[in-house]
Amino acid sequence: MYGDGAGRDLGDTHHLDTAIWTTLRQLIPNFQRCTKVHLGSGQFTSFWFDHWIGPQPLADLFPALLSFCPRPNITVAHAYLQDQWIIPLHPRLTSVASSQLSAILLALADVPLLPHVPDRRGIGVDLQPFSSWGFYLWHMEQRPIDGFADCIWSNAAIPRCKHFLWLVHHNRLPSAALLHHRCIVESTLCQYCGAYEDQDHLLLRCPLARGLLNYIGWNIAPHLTSFRELWDLPYFSDEASPRTRSTIITAVLWNVWKARNSVVFSSLFPTADDTGLAILQDLRLWSIRMRSPSDKAYLHEWCSAFDVN
Ligand SMILES: [Zn+2]
Repeated sequence: MYGDGAGRDLGDTHHLDTAIWTTLRQLIPNFQRCTKVHLGSGQFTSFWFDHWIGPQPLADLFPALLSFCPRPNITVAHAYLQDQWIIPLHPRLTSVASSQLSAILLALADVPLLPHVPDRRGIGVDLQPFSSWGFYLWHMEQRPIDGFADCIWSNAAIPRCKHFLWLVHHNRLPSAALLHHRCIVESTLCQYCGAYEDQDHLLLRCPLARGLLNYIGWNIAPHLTSFRELWDLPYFSDEASPRTRSTIITAVLWNVWKARNSVVFSSLFPTADDTGLAILQDLRLWSIRMRSPSDKAYLHEWCSAFDVN
């Protein structure tokens, strides 16, 4: 794959590139980031972007010098001519680039190329052969820890409702605004109240949602800036475990969503009583999935108090 076929290096763009090749080329940076190379001939290793010397790719260590390179995608072999390191560079380097060039040449002084030995590439310190599974594991390790994930997945709601909450967390609930953005519907307006319907409107601020939130006593909820702040509301006592709290909030949001859908798809306008009843039914059903007796007891207590309202 590497090389300068037709005067180009792997990773260079060209106006005649096909769509498939463009897609493949866009994958190269991730491929380079997740692999390391044990250098042989240098013919299949990117000089600047592969991880083959030092703690990081040279592009990360010496960005000022890279900005002077007319061929950023050259291979290591192309920078090594007649037993010397010759990096193609534009003239008149800045002082920073000059000092980076000195540092790079010093680092490369003792690096020999082995013309008859192929480069060995792999994932991790032991250079495991590249595989989609290895790439997936590497990719997941790079992702920052999602502090909200526990609220979604440590929850007694059924998987469908957890998935709903996951969509909300990623701002992907198919509200009118999102569907309009994806050219699926023409209007961004809420079919209940006529306001702009993004997911915060739909779940917190629409009169349909407000009616229910007021009904269950969560009067502050419509004034929150994000649905995540529901987890910080002072409406739960200290006995409510995070799991129970998440279960109740999921049931509320899920039923607001269902109420909104019954307006949009069935032209039915559920009252706060109807939606409240649906929440209670869900929670009583989901309580069977709770293992902790104290969680179960709290859930039933919450439902009973709510029932009286
Ligand atoms: Zn609305």
